[in-house]
Amino acid sequence: MGTLRALRQLAKEHGTPLVVVDHEVLRRNYATFKRYLPRVQAYYAVKANPDPAIVKTLFDAGGSFDVASMPEFRIVYEYIKDMPAKQRQEWIWDKIIYANPIKANDTLQELDQYKALVTYDNEEEIRKIKKHAPNTGLALRLKVPNTGAMVELSSKCGAAPGEAVDLILAAHRAGLVVEGLSFHVGSQTTNFENFVQAINLAASVFEEAKARGYTKMNLLDIGGGFPAPYDASVKPFSELARKINAELDRLFPKDIEILAEPGRFMVATAATAISKIIGKAVRDGKLCYYVDDGVYNTFSGIIFDHCHYHMEAFRKGPRQICTVFGPTCDALDVISMSEELPADLERGDLLFSRNIGAYSVASATQFNGFPPAKVVHINQ
Ligand SMILES: *Cc1c(COP(=O)(O)O)cnc(C)c1O
Repeated sequence: MGTLRALRQLAKEHGTPLVVVDHEVLRRNYATFKRYLPRVQAYYAVKANPDPAIVKTLFDAGGSFDVASMPEFRIVYEYIKDMPAKQRQEWIWDKIIYANPIKANDTLQELDQYKALVTYDNEEEIRKIKKHAPNTGLALRLKVPNTGAMVELSSKCGAAPGEAVDLILAAHRAGLVVEGLSFHVGSQTTNFENFVQAINLAASVFEEAKARGYTKMNLLDIGGGFPAPYDASVKPFSELARKINAELDRLFPKDIEILAEPGRFMVATAATAISKIIGKAVRDGKLCYYVDDGVYNTFSGIIFDHCHYHMEAFRKGPRQICTVFGPTCDALDVISMSEELPADLERGDLLFSRNIGAYSVASATQFNGFPPAKVVHINQ
């Protein structure tokens, strides 16, 4: 990610609050993912950061996409729509999975026209898909343990493994085609055993489906959850990849296609936020800095993503534990209660936060009238 001097220069040029997205890092993250998981096609989860420029860079690098709404679908479809019709039909599955198990009827009707690949996890959804999207391909979303993930996802989505094959056969009886299985081990999963367990659960569902006469499954989608290296406690990706590869090769024959839906892993390290100190106070004996970006804007991940971001100063100086507040009047708007920063920073000085590309800009609001940070792209 750009040198400190380059970052400061960009802030001078564009003003603050600013988010700098480095496309070199995006390409490097994509290449790392492919190098360590050569059997797995990466469907970038657009919800982590739906910036069309990010989608374009990952598309050009060879990536595919996990979308969960029609606006997200359209961001990706932009790059597919000009293909010849025949190729376009093949590409749709190669490039997009609609990985939201619950879809409104009008969404299904639209997805049906594209003959898209969609996930589902219950009987009611089978009835909806049969009626509104009979030409789509299906992947059953399995519920798998999310132990130790930073963001738990299993309470909202996924069929219990015990009912999985019943749901596959029910879809088959409804005249639909179940192409395979998907799961999500929870976001920012640092407990690598989650992936091992989930792949084993999926293999047992494949086996039971076969034993009960359903032999059309040919894809496994191992979802997202690949951790970003926010700090030194996150074990290297190569270690996780080794475990995943070993289980995939042991349990899934080569002709089963393997997909994944990395969101955070691709974008977290690709962006840095720069904010400016707009006020300074001492409250209850503690030094407080007020900056022009906060939890209602780029730092929204503190609330929605349970993510903690560190603030750093461009200048050196004697440091002490400070509080950093966002610009709104809401007491919730706290970036950090204990950040070690130089005590002699002044109004107008800049602070920056690395690794803020995922679940940040994506969930920013305009609360209290403060507009979202400007986003600039470098090394595009
Ligand atoms: C959010 C989400 C992802 C991306 O998860 P990360 O933890 O960011 O990798 C992938 N798949 C589905 C279905 C999701 O809901």
